[in-house]
Order: sequence, then structure tokens, then C-alpha cells
Amino acid sequence: QELPADSILENSRRQVSEACFSYVTPKQTAKPELLHISPEMLENLGLSKEDAKSETFLNVFTGNEVLENTKPYAMCYGGHQFGNWAGQLGDGRAINLCEVEHHNKNWTLQLKGAGETPYSRTADGLAVLRSSIREYLCSEAMFYLGVPTTRALSLALSGDLVMRDVMYDGNPAYEKGAIVCRAAESFLRFGNYQIFAARQDDKNLKKLVDYTIKYHFAHLGNPSKETYIAFFKEVSQRTVNMIIDWQRVGFVHGVMNTDNMSILGLTIDYGPYGWLEGYEYGWTPNTTDRQNKRYRYGNQPNIGLWNLLQLANAIYPLIEEAEPLETILNQYKIDFEGGSLSMMRSKLGLETEDANDQKFIQELEDNLHLTETDMTIFFRSLADFKKDNTSNGIEIIQNAFYKPEEVVGNIENRWNDWFEKYAQRLKKEIGSDKERKVKMNQFNPKYVLRNYMAQLAIDDADKGDYKLIDELFIMLKTPYDEQPEYQKWFAKRPDWARHKIGCSM
Ligand code: AMP
Ligand code: MG
Ligand code: MG
Repeated sequence: QELPADSILENSRRQVSEACFSYVTPKQTAKPELLHISPEMLENLGLSKEDAKSETFLNVFTGNEVLENTKPYAMCYGGHQFGNWAGQLGDGRAINLCEVEHHNKNWTLQLKGAGETPYSRTADGLAVLRSSIREYLCSEAMFYLGVPTTRALSLALSGDLVMRDVMYDGNPAYEKGAIVCRAAESFLRFGNYQIFAARQDDKNLKKLVDYTIKYHFAHLGNPSKETYIAFFKEVSQRTVNMIIDWQRVGFVHGVMNTDNMSILGLTIDYGPYGWLEGYEYGWTPNTTDRQNKRYRYGNQPNIGLWNLLQLANAIYPLIEEAEPLETILNQYKIDFEGGSLSMMRSKLGLETEDANDQKFIQELEDNLHLTETDMTIFFRSLADFKKDNTSNGIEIIQNAFYKPEEVVGNIENRWNDWFEKYAQRLKKEIGSDKERKVKMNQFNPKYVLRNYMAQLAIDDADKGDYKLIDELFIMLKTPYDEQPEYQKWFAKRPDWARHKIGCSM
């Protein structure tokens, strides 16, 4: 869309009616400094390592220079936050810079933390180093785990200080400001559609849905009622598949508000996310959600469905028929059940199907809850189980228990029972122990970005040492490989980190 010649760019905070986005200019920063660049993302964009060393690269990806013929903008969206409609939200600290087409793939590049937009409401549009490191490392790690996600191109310091907390003495606490350039085919969220529905602006709702289909779901064909239904069906399928992947690797998003749900089924908005250490359905990394635990690990599949219901309501005016939408939502439950069962089978190295698998897997999950048991270490170690040897089960997974001294009596018996069943079950499989181990290890990661690992990288970075960011970045590129040189990261969370959690702002 062209700007009228006499238009005034209005960047102050406001309600922005009828608009899908607003043009904004990123903030100039005091002393921009690149801390890390993803070499693979450079390649995806058709940029060279030399390009990345240029002044232009530094300036563009810290918001200090706007590329010629581009018009950065912030998107308008609404959303349900923790189950309640929150009205207009929008990109409060994200600015879309431009799109890059390379190797038939389209990337939107977006700065996070580059200053205020009309959607910043009461906040400053900035991001701190802590949360930027967490987003940068985790989004790339998720990609290499095979989970659909937005990507990250670069991590930079702005050179400005950002106020984030008020200390007990009433003085403000400052943190280093940072900017991440993230990349995705699109950053459209459920909330982008909801805002038009909430405003009963069917005209712009249709425009946006048609745009989305044309550019991102072109295989569905021209806009029509049937196409809209097919579109919703695909969004639903992508969402359920993404969430099954989260469950597989133990990722807990932490803020599954509808404004944080990508229309492309990508994991988006890495805020207070966390990784399961002890396998626990009730766990959430989000301290502001500790009461209701709405976004706890075990509830993510339900929330995905709830969010899709909100999206269905939003696009209903284009379809005006509830039944096809309800059918799709019902299918989500069926797909989740089926997909989750087959995901768990793969985690256990089972390639055949057995009528008792559901029950058998339920017993495993119950056992995992008996005493704090590290999910990643458990499944990785389980690959060493030998189907002819029923007595070595507990020994093999010993290292996954946070309190091995608790694994006695009834708990020990239940594990022994389960391993006996596992041995029996494996006898129905054709593959050898060795083959099973290879397959399981391609499905159960050895290395994930445990919360304390990100925290250590953050602590070092605060002191100006960025080596650990690079080490974790490299290790997390091949999370399924043994990588003996990184063995120290295949370890339970240390005690000091027990109550440490990440935070979003
Ligand atoms: P989130 O919980 O990260 O999904 O953020 C919810 C909403 O708050 C979104 O509209 C964000 O753009 C906005 N927001 C979060 N942090 C900031 C910030 N520092 N400045 C401006 N807006 C923000
Ligand atoms: Mg968000
Ligand atoms: Mg966020």
C-alpha cells in the first residue's frame, strides 16, 4: 500500500481503528553491537558472512537504519489473555522491517525491542538482554528439534539501558537493552483476525483472511466459503501438530494467549517459556500463572483447542455456519488423541500398534509423576533398555531421578512392573535393541535449553562474556546427536536452579 504524499506518520500510542498495521520507524540506539548471528539464517536469506560484518547489517538489524524502499510497520491485533478478551494489543515492541525472498521462500524480518509503536500501550517497546538471549537461543533450538517455529537472525545490544524493575529501596533497576531480529514466513496471529471480528469490521476481516490465503495458503485456492473452512481446518491441524511436538520435547510455552498463536502453526513469542525437567503435567514456568496454571504442560493441548475456538468465532462471519467449524474442532481432539499416542509410541521405540498401548503409556506417565523424574534424561536413557533383560530397567534410568532415595518400596515395585511390561511389549517389535536405540535417539533429544543453561549464558553475557551463548547455540543445532564434548549439559538441573524461572519482559 502506498502512503499518500501528505500523510503524517503518527507513532504515538493509540487505538488504531480499521487498520491492520501502522508504519513506524525503529528507535535510534546509543551503541549498537551485534552479539551473535545465526549462520544458517544468513544463508536462508541469501546473505554472506561478509554481509554480516558490514556497517549496514549492524545498523539495519538494530533499527538504526531503514533499508531503501522499505517501510517498517507494526501490526494491529487483539487477543484473549489468560482466557479474557483484552481488546487491542498489537506489536508493542515488534517492528516488521521487510520481506526477503530467497530460494523460493519468503521471510518476514522483524525486530523485537526496537522501540515504541502505536501499540505499546503503557510499555516502552524495548527488550532486555536477558529475555532476548532466551528468545534467540530457544527459537533456533526449537527449529533444530524439528518443532515449527519462528527463527532468529541476530542478537544485538542496543547500548541503551532499559528500566525493568523497581528495587526495594524505591530506586529503578536498569538492564541492558537488546534487539533480536526474528524471521518467519509471517507473524500473523489469531489475534490479527480477532481484532476485526471484535470491531465487527467484516470488510477488513475478509481482506486479511483473503490476503492470508493468497500468500500463505495458496494451495487452498480462491476465496470462497469452502476455502475459508479448509483454511480453518489447516490452521487447526498445524496447531495440533505443533502442540504434539511441544509435548514430545517437553516445551512449555507459558503464555498461550491468542495473540501468541501463529496462524501458520509456528511457535511464536518466547517469553516465560520453560522446559520440563521433572515430568509433570501441572508445571508452568510462568510465575504470573501459578494460581490457575492455565498454561501448564498438561493443559497445552486443551488451550490450543480453546484458542482455535476463538479463531473460529472470529472468522465465523465469513462462513456463517457453525457446523463445519465444530466438526473441525472435534477433529482436533481426535487428531490429538491419535497423534499423541503415536508420538508416545515413538518415544518408547514402538513401531507396531498394540491395543493395550494407551493403558501401558498411561502407566508410564503415572510412574513418571511418582517422584521427580527428568523427562529428557529418562527417554534418552530408556533407549539403552534391552528387551531380554527385565532386571536392568531402573538402573538404566537411575540418573533421571532427582531423589533416587525415594525410589524404594511401592515406587520401585511400580517401576519394576512397568519395565516387565515394556520388555514384553518390545518382544512384539521386529527391530533389534540396537535399531530401536537409533530410532529413539532421533526422536528423544539429548540436549534441550534447560532454564538454568539459558540463565548461565545470561549471567555471563551480563558481564560481557558471550562465549556460552555460542557454545549453547552450536550444541543445540544437533540436539539428537551424542556430542560427547557437551556431555556436561546432559545433566539434571542443579539444585541452585530449582526455583529459578525465566521471565518474559
Ligand atoms: P506478550 O505477553 O509478550 O505476548 O505481550 C503482550 C502484549 O504486550 C503484546 O501486545 C506486546 O507487544 C506488548 N508488550 C510486551 N512487552 C512490551 C514492551 N516492553 N513494550 C511495549 N509493548 C510490550
Ligand atoms: Mg506476544
Ligand atoms: Mg512476549
